Amino acid sequence: MLMVTTSWDDGDLSDTKVAGILSRYKAKGTFYITKRYRENRLSENQIRALSLEHEIGAHTLTHPNLTALSQEKDFEEIQGSKTWLEGIVGREVSLFCYPFGLYNATVASLVQKAGYRGARTTAHSHTELPTSAYEMPTTLHIYPFPFRKNVSGGYYWGRLLQPFFERYQGYRTLGVPWWKMYSWLSAAKAAFDYGYKQGGVFHLWGHSWELERYGMWNDLESFLRYISSKQNVRFVTNGELLEMSKNKV
Ligand SMILES: [Zn+2]
Repeated sequence: MLMVTTSWDDGDLSDTKVAGILSRYKAKGTFYITKRYRENRLSENQIRALSLEHEIGAHTLTHPNLTALSQEKDFEEIQGSKTWLEGIVGREVSLFCYPFGLYNATVASLVQKAGYRGARTTAHSHTELPTSAYEMPTTLHIYPFPFRKNVSGGYYWGRLLQPFFERYQGYRTLGVPWWKMYSWLSAAKAAFDYGYKQGGVFHLWGHSWELERYGMWNDLESFLRYISSKQNVRFVTNGELLEMSKNKV
């Protein structure tokens, strides 16, 4: 059995498109939403609608680097986003996600103090159940690979292979052979096959605005179609995954 969870950061308007695609394949998403970060952002009604089928998590009010602010300011961002979202969705918002993936022990303890049950990081290439509630890792980022792309989805010839060099080791950790690394979709399928054989967790994460910027909507759709055709795959939210990991311990 492989648990599959997905998470989507920032609260951009394009999140509604992600949610539509996820729902088509009966997949679950946890959407980590900021209040004032994205210019084109979800309205409160859209957040409420999203919460009916998927999970809502918090991602601060303004998306600052929490390791660079005072504890008071951090707490305002961390707790403020929880209160704001709970007011919209009318139920507990139990998960948090660190902006830019940046955190330290103090930040993590403030997240706990604010009443969250866990927090997601941007650590990648993990396929095991989370072992530390406030440091939930991911498996794979949906992001251009192996070639760098520009905003219109074409290739960015300057430092064309930057994503390849930055992410090669992560894909290797997920058992992806180099000859499957010719596209994100090919590498992602190979990483999924590796996780599927082993069992455990596959946590896909990304930004809807990056899918839009880099023309990757078909990649998401094709990947979900691929994994939803498999037996013994269970789609869960980040929160459900965390509860499972706690019950195991
Ligand atoms: Zn973010």
